[in-house]
Amino acid sequence: MGVVLPLRFLFVVVFVEVLTGFHGVGCSSQPPMTPIPFDLYHSSAALLKEIKATVVRHPDTLTMETIKAGNKGYAAEVLVVTYNRQTEDVDDQSKLRVLLSFGQHGRELITSEVALQLLSVLAKERNMQRADLMSLHKLLDNLVIKMVPMENLNGRKLVEAADLCERRNGRGVDLNRNWGVDWGKKEKDYDPYEENPGTAPFSEPEAQIMRQLAKSFEPHIWANVHSGMEALFTPYDHKNKTPEGSMSNLMDFILREVNHLHFEDKCLVGSGGGLVGYLAHGTTTDYMYDVVKVPLAFTFEIYGDSEASSKDCFKMFNPVDKLVFNKTVDNWTVAFLTLFKLGFLQLRDNHFAPSADLRKWVPFGGLVDNDFSKILFREDGKLRFYELPLALIRKHNRIFPHSQKINLFMFIWSINYKEILVILLKIIEG
Ligand SMILES: [Zn+2]
Repeated sequence: MGVVLPLRFLFVVVFVEVLTGFHGVGCSSQPPMTPIPFDLYHSSAALLKEIKATVVRHPDTLTMETIKAGNKGYAAEVLVVTYNRQTEDVDDQSKLRVLLSFGQHGRELITSEVALQLLSVLAKERNMQRADLMSLHKLLDNLVIKMVPMENLNGRKLVEAADLCERRNGRGVDLNRNWGVDWGKKEKDYDPYEENPGTAPFSEPEAQIMRQLAKSFEPHIWANVHSGMEALFTPYDHKNKTPEGSMSNLMDFILREVNHLHFEDKCLVGSGGGLVGYLAHGTTTDYMYDVVKVPLAFTFEIYGDSEASSKDCFKMFNPVDKLVFNKTVDNWTVAFLTLFKLGFLQLRDNHFAPSADLRKWVPFGGLVDNDFSKILFREDGKLRFYELPLALIRKHNRIFPHSQKINLFMFIWSINYKEILVILLKIIEG
């Protein structure tokens, strides 16, 4: 969700202070703008490079793809990393599906650092001292996690080019206002700089990609990870209430547990619209809950410096002290593991079993080519004679990315008589 500058941020500061009894020290003189401390933070290029290298090192558990979309001369790409460990015990269909997005707002760099560390824990390259590794690995065998480490790469690049307050995408649209639930409604204090919802719902390529990802993957848990304050939100953002029904109680229970176990009960917990002090329209989490029907849909605000000047954006949204940086990243990495565990146990105990067809897994995005003739023939019209078996394997790998038995079956099945005939005819014509 993020915090809207500058009036709304001041409101939040006052709000938090009232709640906690804390009285911050105001900044009377002009404080310097804090630049990005690159000794603590990765650049976007370095972070994505490290994430990709991690995936390459662990082909047994991690896969990735880059999804591209664009319109009106504007292009965006989103890297999606999938964690899924093959085991004999658990088939893919019965796994809990988790979708996480980090860095939807450009200036919230700390969120993508959490993504990187979480990935390194999933890859077993890093151990968290506080995590029970045995039960963790057993839990992870029951999960498929899709992670978007940096949803708004174009906006992030603007921040790295010294536009430190930028939260919108590369053409000035707030990606957390571009979604289809209650889109475009403007509050009295609407700030077009911060909250530009775009020309229509899903006008932005990044939002289109994320919607397609969510609809094909059908997650049981969704988390949209932001910074600007410390809060654990459930829907709704566009109205001052939580959803009806048992899922709402379940979300509230899980968040209060996470808050207690990892944040000393200091985070605000409740609906975004009820707690932030203003309503937000067209947000991702409201859409995930209402339209995609994700049972557990959250927005996390993982860090905020309420004492920072409202002009000092980097400091307001990101820790600048090494200790605080490490604490934030560590706490949130473990908090995500707790979220997975509680989500899994609670949904299982409430008999909310995964039900989606396995084939709904991956066929999303412009990169997945379902036109078989394009797989059979190269762009120059020549038959992919030698590449064909590989192309077929690749095609079915995308549809069934994790089951070798199904892949083998589909591969044998897919070389049917019709295809062989087409191949032979092409060779004869050739
Ligand atoms: Zn944000």
